[in-house]
Amino acid sequence: MRRFVHETHAQRVVFASGAAREKLAEEIGLLGASRVMVLAGPSEAAVAARVTADLPVALKHDEVVMHVPVAVAERAREAARAHDVDALVSVGGGSTTGLAKAVALTTGLPVVAVPTTYAGSEATSVWGLTEGEVKTTGTDPRVLPRSVVYDAELMLSLPVDLSVASGLNALAHCVDAMWAPRTDPIDAALAAEGIRALAAGLPLVVDDPGGLPGREQALYGAYLAAVAFASAGSGLHHKICHVLGGRYNLPHAPTHAVVLPHVLALNGPAAPEAERRIAEAFGTTTALEGLEALRTRLDAPRALRDYGFREDQIPDAVVAVLPVVPESNPALVTPDNLQQLLRSAWEGATPR
Ligand code: NAD
Repeated sequence: MRRFVHETHAQRVVFASGAAREKLAEEIGLLGASRVMVLAGPSEAAVAARVTADLPVALKHDEVVMHVPVAVAERAREAARAHDVDALVSVGGGSTTGLAKAVALTTGLPVVAVPTTYAGSEATSVWGLTEGEVKTTGTDPRVLPRSVVYDAELMLSLPVDLSVASGLNALAHCVDAMWAPRTDPIDAALAAEGIRALAAGLPLVVDDPGGLPGREQALYGAYLAAVAFASAGSGLHHKICHVLGGRYNLPHAPTHAVVLPHVLALNGPAAPEAERRIAEAFGTTTALEGLEALRTRLDAPRALRDYGFREDQIPDAVVAVLPVVPESNPALVTPDNLQQLLRSAWEGATPR
């Protein structure tokens, strides 16, 4: 086996379907916290009220905005200071986790995350902030949640279309982790198991949105996906989606869901080992065949034009993406093939 270094993040991870309330209280007890700030957006407030009922809550904060605008982060930091809180609990999707991370970044306060989507931010030490059109990201150990409490019951209220988009966002972590700049055999193993779990769980979520087995499988897959992504770093897929999300304010999860097969179509032939492992995880002959079959089964988002991306923005996106393409990307990325990729994603063409 070739030489590699794999860094594992120090984090407690609790899987407890139906028991988030008790498990969250245990995690806060382990931290010895007595003044908790609960962060949850308006559509997450009901779930948050339920799972934080046994905590010493000093403050509830509900101003959550996707991609964490700096002004929103500043107001949350100020509220944390004014209420002298000693721990942060985020209950919600990646936007809510992201806000808690932004507060932790400057205050050093510990975060306990209770995710309600498959975004996976809770398992990474990556933070993100936006100012105007520019999204800045960075890595800092202070923002990595100390504990994560996964409770599949909390996912039951996530509408099917959001579940599908978010689940494919998780799948994108797995696929991109196969060729991202710091990928190693451990990341590939986590990613392959993540693909298997998501491919098994997401169809069950669509068939029976109120059932737990699909939600549990998908949540387990989403965690593995996030751990693989956190270690491997951002590959071509994440670089493209980062530009699209930050520059044109496209919604995070659907953007990932649309772009992924187009990146796989470009990189797959140039990355035979990744292609083999992804196909094996899907149980299909080729990786793209597996992904496309799953996307059809889930009625996945197909075209970026449905999410606010305009055809006349493609040339600008090409110029913005090219300088951030990872040097190690398996396929050569040129202005021409990138233009073609973005055009196919824009119109929802069959990935080739
Ligand atoms: P989101 O957090 O914006 O949530 C999408 C919508 O779903 C919101 O309206 C939210 O209120 C609602 N929602 C969430 N959970 C719900 C539930 N259980 N029931 C009903 N409604 C619910 O979207 P997301 O895709 O989870 O996260 C996207 C953000 O996370 C982006 O800003 C992205 O950059 C960030 N992210 C960061 C990392 C990282 O490692 N730092 C990783 C993944 C995503």
